[in-house]
Amino acid sequence: MSSIPVGISACLTGQAVRHDGGHKHSRYCTEVLSRWFSLHPLCPEAGAGLGTPRPSMRLEQHGDGVRLIAPREKRDLTPVLEAWTERQLEGLASLRGFILTAKSPSCGMSRIRVYHPDGEVARRDASGLFAQALMQRFPLLPVEEAARLNDDALRENFIERVFLYDDWCCVRSEGLSAATLLDFHTRHKLQMLAHSQQGYRELGRLLSNLRGKDLDALADDYITRVMQLMRKRVSPGAHVNVMQHVLGHFRDNPGFRDHTSAGLRQAADAQIAAYQRGEVPLVVPLTLLRVMQQQAPDAWLARQHYLAPYPDALGLRNRL
Ligand code: SF4
Repeated sequence: MSSIPVGISACLTGQAVRHDGGHKHSRYCTEVLSRWFSLHPLCPEAGAGLGTPRPSMRLEQHGDGVRLIAPREKRDLTPVLEAWTERQLEGLASLRGFILTAKSPSCGMSRIRVYHPDGEVARRDASGLFAQALMQRFPLLPVEEAARLNDDALRENFIERVFLYDDWCCVRSEGLSAATLLDFHTRHKLQMLAHSQQGYRELGRLLSNLRGKDLDALADDYITRVMQLMRKRVSPGAHVNVMQHVLGHFRDNPGFRDHTSAGLRQAADAQIAAYQRGEVPLVVPLTLLRVMQQQAPDAWLARQHYLAPYPDALGLRNRL
């Protein structure tokens, strides 16, 4: 598998580019994710020529606008950071995800404080200037803060979205057709169902009759909805429903009529129930379903990314 291009705040890779000359090295990013993602480090503040070390900065509310201010020096650094960001964004179109540093007035994805000029906190719901521009320019791009990757569910969700978005970008770059669009929808069906049954049904209606429609516009609408849907957390109950759906595919499979196979099917059923009770992680019933798939392959299931949406070695489903 070729590695997937993912942007990252440079300080997370260990580069000493923070305002105090330090870094925020994330070993998970550089030692684990880097095995599948080619990481593209980028430091907006150093890149914009603000120097390292440099004065500390914060977001300030001035009239209707938010400015990036170095309060001690009373310097407004917004124009220089915005100009650098604007020059960079075009070159980021090939990325399939971005990992940002939390709490930064440039890189923070969310919950960034905005101050009144007198130093009082005005609100705590902003994004850093670079992060905001990135998310506005590439609204489909999976974006996450490194600190949030410590949460098992958020980490799994981000990585699943990166792999799915990469698949979508390949579909688009190889030339979109009704057939390739429907094929993408089919192979991600179980993933989408897990995230939202209603969302999946709406997507199905969107694709129900493609004849005479503007395929490019429809595809843009489709993937926007898909990426929104994929942001929803998958509940254990939703995984149980999808795994029961998978199990149903083996009921009429002639390869599962003998005694041994019936036992395997019962074991999978029992482990799905054990997962539902919180006794085993998701990987346990899913492994049994994959063994069943190896024993008597089902052509439709073989194409479903749900059974292996990312490399097993990431160990993500051991912790769900
Ligand atoms: S948070 Fe962003 S701007 Fe700050 S040092 Fe890290 S990469 Fe640079």
